[in-house]
Amino acid sequence: MNELYEWQDELWQRWIELRARLPHAILLKGPQGIGKLDFAINLARALLCKKSLGSQLACLDCASCRWFEQGTHPDFRLLLSGAHSIEMQESNETQASLTLKNWTKRIAEEVLDEQQKKGKKPSKEISIHQVRSLANFVNLSTHQGGPRVVLIYPAETMNTNAANALLKMLEEPPEQMLIILVSHKPQQLLPTIVSRCLALTAPMPALETSSTWLQQRKYTNPVATLARAGFAPLLAARLAEEAIGESEYSLFLQEIRQPAQFDVFVLAEQLQRVEPIHVIHWLQQWCYDLGSAKLTGKVRYHPYLFDLIKNLSDNIAMFNLLRYQNELIIAKREALHPLNPKLLFESILLSYRHMMLEANV
Ligand SMILES: [Zn+2]
Repeated sequence: MNELYEWQDELWQRWIELRARLPHAILLKGPQGIGKLDFAINLARALLCKKSLGSQLACLDCASCRWFEQGTHPDFRLLLSGAHSIEMQESNETQASLTLKNWTKRIAEEVLDEQQKKGKKPSKEISIHQVRSLANFVNLSTHQGGPRVVLIYPAETMNTNAANALLKMLEEPPEQMLIILVSHKPQQLLPTIVSRCLALTAPMPALETSSTWLQQRKYTNPVATLARAGFAPLLAARLAEEAIGESEYSLFLQEIRQPAQFDVFVLAEQLQRVEPIHVIHWLQQWCYDLGSAKLTGKVRYHPYLFDLIKNLSDNIAMFNLLRYQNELIIAKREALHPLNPKLLFESILLSYRHMMLEANV
């Protein structure tokens, strides 16, 4: 789905003007939490779309759009740090970030794999290795005969070596290729990189616009939350989400730890006030810890429940857990427009119980 925020209309018009003479690199800058990444995704997808060719939003229907959605488009590359790719797997904010999930999944899996082998934490930096891997991409002729797009997010997480490697590429820019650098902190980029990019400043929406946007998403006290988030609406939404349903969350944790005992239908009813996507997110974090406790003896989200999670995880078949996690990913997509949240909760909670008890057989 296209998601251009209403405060980005002018920025989109500015891009359309630029489109006529495609620049080699764009630096999309502005504070965190105002939708720059979504904008960049929409831009990349539109440019690759067979029907729109970048002059309007992507059609979402052509082969190119479908590849993009699946995270397999041969003419698109995403550069993202390992830590970020994992974070993105777990976030559930916008439509564009759902699309990105397919792109980040592979990176996240590789990173987690590596981490398990070497016991290292996922890096927060984009490495020179990642930038160099673009060389192959650059040298191949484009798969679809159209432009190629590279998205670097956020650009300031490139380490010095990576930045220098990118600079070389910008000095001899390949034909028909657009590099989009998204940055919250452009002052941390090499000036020589900045000077080779066409700068686009993403606008900070007016307080009223942001506040309405949050209200439409049923967040209470939008102005106070915006103030906490430096007036960035997407960041405010994230802060608000964390505070939503605190009592339901503790209830959830209380029940879910006793898979044989808890009443699925009662719990589904008690959770009704919470947006389905949050409940699925809680389940994903819970399952992440179950898997992690089993495989590595560590947990990330519920360290205070370590012993309990470890005990539960001993009896789980890893295959069943993975299958259930996949089910949650699918449920997450449906959760954006659920017909009946209670039914959705019942279904995923019943599956959860099934997964936990099946293992004991
Ligand atoms: Zn299309």
